[in-house]
Amino acid sequence: MDWSIQAGREAPAPAALPLLPEALKELGPEELLVNEFFLSIQGESTYAGWPCFFIRLAGCHLRCTWCDTEYAFHEGTVHGLEECLGRARSAGARLVEVTGGEPLLQRAVRPLLTRLADAGHQVLVETSGAVSIAGLDPRAALIVDVKCPGSGMVERNRPGIERELRAGDEVKLVIADRRDYEWARAWVASREGALPPGTAVHFSPVSGRLESAELASWILEDRLRVRLNLQLHKYVWDPGRRGV
Ligand code: SF4
Repeated sequence: MDWSIQAGREAPAPAALPLLPEALKELGPEELLVNEFFLSIQGESTYAGWPCFFIRLAGCHLRCTWCDTEYAFHEGTVHGLEECLGRARSAGARLVEVTGGEPLLQRAVRPLLTRLADAGHQVLVETSGAVSIAGLDPRAALIVDVKCPGSGMVERNRPGIERELRAGDEVKLVIADRRDYEWARAWVASREGALPPGTAVHFSPVSGRLESAELASWILEDRLRVRLNLQLHKYVWDPGRRGV
């Protein structure tokens, strides 16, 4: 696979940046490598169903087996902070989600979150659980994807990340099979009391690998206090479609 990226800087003409994630270190303090901007319906949290403007940042240091945004690994264009803010403003949605890839690999994401919140947006960040979330603007709610074994990335979970979460943050565990389910169930049970009170915990089936009805039946059998989370946008639009 070609890990190089083409960064469409305004001037000079598009230039190649080195391999990811090293490429991200070459970005200026107010530059972001953006894979795509789009307006859609939020699909994977307690905010599911709300109109939402998405800023998908490029680059990820993980390689989950079931990743559905691999195109974000190596396709990106450089945009300034002001332009990102302007696009969010023009989109007209109160809710703005910064996602990836792994958005927290880019240093300008922190001022971006603050400036979006200052502008009156409700801000969400979807992150892998493999990067520190310390010091992020508290007005931005995190959706932290804790990795189950079926992702192939379970060893990349940050130990103790549950203690870094703030009120209003959410946790998502993507489940490929029964082994993942049992791992996720144990993860939740062992974190009882460590997560902030009221933290929403979502169990989400891997599309095409685990039937949502099967996951629902397991949750019900065990009377788990978690939410079944379906990727709403994949029911509204073609599951393979980008930019939704
Ligand atoms: S962390 Fe997210 S973007 Fe990165 S490989 Fe996993 S699913 Fe894909």
